Amino acid sequence: MPHDHSDHPHALLPSDPALRVKALETILTRKGLIDPAALDEIVDTYQNKIGPQNGAQVVARAWSDPKFRASLLADATAAVRDLGYFGRQGEHMVVVENTPDLHNMVVCTLCSCYPWPLLGIPPAWYKSDAYRARVVREPRKVLADFGVTLSEKTAVRVWDSTAEVRYLVIPMRPAGTEGLDVDALAALVTRDSMIGTALVQAPT
Ligand code: FE
Repeated sequence: MPHDHSDHPHALLPSDPALRVKALETILTRKGLIDPAALDEIVDTYQNKIGPQNGAQVVARAWSDPKFRASLLADATAAVRDLGYFGRQGEHMVVVENTPDLHNMVVCTLCSCYPWPLLGIPPAWYKSDAYRARVVREPRKVLADFGVTLSEKTAVRVWDSTAEVRYLVIPMRPAGTEGLDVDALAALVTRDSMIGTALVQAPT
């Protein structure tokens, strides 16, 4: 039987990762193993529909509505599900709240577990060996690298995510935001503030 290279597509894959992904997608589509429309839908969902703006809505509501805040702290999974935020990598959510006495930070020391339905795809630094190793050993130094200096009186607690439990930080609501509605508040809430590596700044 003649050696047919079409049976060995791996040998023909280009070295550039983007081209390699495209080539793999083409092969899998031709073999009927994936539906390209479904793939486009998944990519679009995580690029455009799911991202930190979801978590920011949750934080802004917690700041605005004491009953929602209480339900969030009691059972975050149920509270965010009621807002329509659920799905893969968000099945068991825990929300922790920053106060003047306590600053919370989130890491996954094993890999890169992250609350996808609320924050989207994790940033590269969250997955880096440096962040994962250092944040548990020297959280204040890591905060300083992010430009955050806390009062010495503020304790720092680092939460290690697992395949089971994902964390979201409610940052402290900045002064001068008393008159803002939920959407205006949400616009102030950054991704990093919900991981615990940033503070929310007052509007300028
Ligand atoms: Fe992980």
